[in-house]
Order: sequence, then structure tokens, then C-alpha cells
Amino acid sequence: MNWTDKLYDFNALQEPEWEPRGLVFDVQRFAIHDGGGIRTNVFMKGCPLDCLWCQNPESIRWRQDISFIELHCIQCRKCVEVCPVSAIETDGNEQRVTGIDRKKCILCGACFKSCYAGAINIIGRWLSVEDLVAMVRRDSDFYIASGGGVTFSGGEPTGQPKFLLAALQAMQGIGLHTAVETCLHIAWEQLEPLLSHVNLLLTDIKHMNSQQHSALTGVPNDLILDNFRKIAARNIPVRVRLPLISGLNDSTQNLQETADLVFSCKNVKGVDVLPYNRLGISKCRQLGSEYALADLAPPSREKVEEAARFFRDVVDDVTIGGA
Ligand code: SF4
Ligand code: SF4
Repeated sequence: MNWTDKLYDFNALQEPEWEPRGLVFDVQRFAIHDGGGIRTNVFMKGCPLDCLWCQNPESIRWRQDISFIELHCIQCRKCVEVCPVSAIETDGNEQRVTGIDRKKCILCGACFKSCYAGAINIIGRWLSVEDLVAMVRRDSDFYIASGGGVTFSGGEPTGQPKFLLAALQAMQGIGLHTAVETCLHIAWEQLEPLLSHVNLLLTDIKHMNSQQHSALTGVPNDLILDNFRKIAARNIPVRVRLPLISGLNDSTQNLQETADLVFSCKNVKGVDVLPYNRLGISKCRQLGSEYALADLAPPSREKVEEAARFFRDVVDDVTIGGA
């Protein structure tokens, strides 16, 4: 089995009884926007936040999900035949498959295995550290030549701390640069043991006002800012990422307060302004869930440039879109 097959490995659908294994929903090779150089990005399942604009809604739950892409369905009805709990939804005449009843679904994977059209997918595989090392070793020459490495993202990778710690140690053990993209909404006791194995943290600052942060993400920002300042005190390199969402966090006051925070923390190596995009809409549809900002347009180029200027005043390296 080669490494790409691992993400389609039926055996990896079952939660293992041994540690450490990580629930991973994607592994992207040759990424260039998440930590410098050429990298492999490992996307882990589960997130303590539920941001209205999330572009990876498949990452949020701490368990596997099932997706259905109607456009890919060839209406062979194999999934209807194999589902043990009648969770495949069909239209009134029971002719066309239209979706999946996730309240009934037990995530057995039978429909996924039977769907040759690729219309059904189980999101999330249990991978071992050895699986990941085998994946990244193939490209390690590119990482080393380009100053890249491996980035753990999600979801919230620190939510699977045993696996993340073992994976970080393994990557550093083979000489690779490590980055972790984290929302920082995690107990310090859980975060701290990971930090000595991380070369770079990528962290969002989504809103400086805690009430607003709660309304937009489901959690206040106190723990996040507390961790951010503790990390600054240890001088651990950080890139700040600002998802720019029109009308929600792009006020002058919020941009200025975020820039002030960046200025006060000398460990911040750069800022990436990430304009809102609409990627989450179709993904939510595939997961059978509602997308809260379906009518929101991405910010104008002028607005994005205006936001970036707040940060160019306080740090040298500011990108738009992480590029
Ligand atoms: S098995 Fe796949 S292609 Fe066939 S009806 Fe089900 S979802 Fe559609
Ligand atoms: S994963 Fe299993 S239970 Fe869920 S819809 Fe598919 S066949 Fe049915």
C-alpha cells in the first residue's frame, strides 16, 4: 500500500484501541502557504471552536463524518442495498438517492465501500505516527532544500495531544521543521509540553473583544489571549493569522487592537491577512449542515489592503492570503 492509499484504507476507519493514533481528515503534499518552504500539511479532526465562516467544516467534530456529493452520484442504489440501518435518503418515489440521514447513520462505512462513483466519503482516518513518517519521508528532500517541513493543522491538532506530541518528536527526529496551526483555545498544561517540539506556531486572532469572539466562534477569547502572551514570554516564533470577515471583525477598532497586540509581542514573525472565502458553503452542503454566512460576500481588495496596512506598521512580513 502506498501512502496516498492510507487515507482510503478501510481498516483505518475503525478507532484503534492503542495509542497514539490520530484522527486525520486530509494530508496535503507540496503546500506552500502554511509555515515557509514546501511542506506537508496534516489536517486533524476536531475543533473546540465553531467559527461562523469555517472553510473546513468537515474538521469540526471530534469524530468521523460522512459526506455525500449529489453531483457525483450515478444513482446505482448500491448504497441503499448495503446500508444496515436504512439511512440512505431517497426522493418520494424512492428512485433517486438524495442524501444521508445522519441521525440514523452508524458510520459503518458500507455505503462508502460500495460507492464506486465516489459520491460518499467517510471523513477521518486513524493514522499512526509511522504512517505519517512514511508519507513525509518521500518528500523530505524538497522540504530540506526549500526550508519547509511539516505543518499540523485542522481542526485543532492540539486536541489530540498524545498523537501530536509523538508526531512532532518523530518529525524533528528525522530533521524536519515543524509548525502547528492552533486556535490556542486549549489548557496551558496541555499546550506547554508540545511547545519544545514546535519550530513555528500559526495562530488566528479572530476578534479582540471577548463577547464578539464568543458570538462568532462559540468561545470567549480569554484563554486564547492568555496563551498567546505566555508564548510571547517564551519567545516562541509565531505567525498571526487574521481571517478578515466583512462586518464581523474588520472594524478599525478591532484591526487596531489586533495590531497593538502584535506590536507588543516581539516573537511575532509575521501576519497573514486571510480574506473570507466561500469554500465552506459547498462543504456544509455535502455534510448535510447549514452554513451560517451563505449570503456574505468576500471583502473587497481595497478593504483587504486597508486591513494589511494596520499590520505593516508594526511588523515587516505581512501577506495577504498567506502567499
Ligand atoms: S452508491 Fe454512490 S453512486 Fe450509487 S446511488 Fe449510492 S451514492 Fe449514488
Ligand atoms: S455509513 Fe453505514 S450506516 Fe451510514 S449511511 Fe453508510 S451504510 Fe448506512
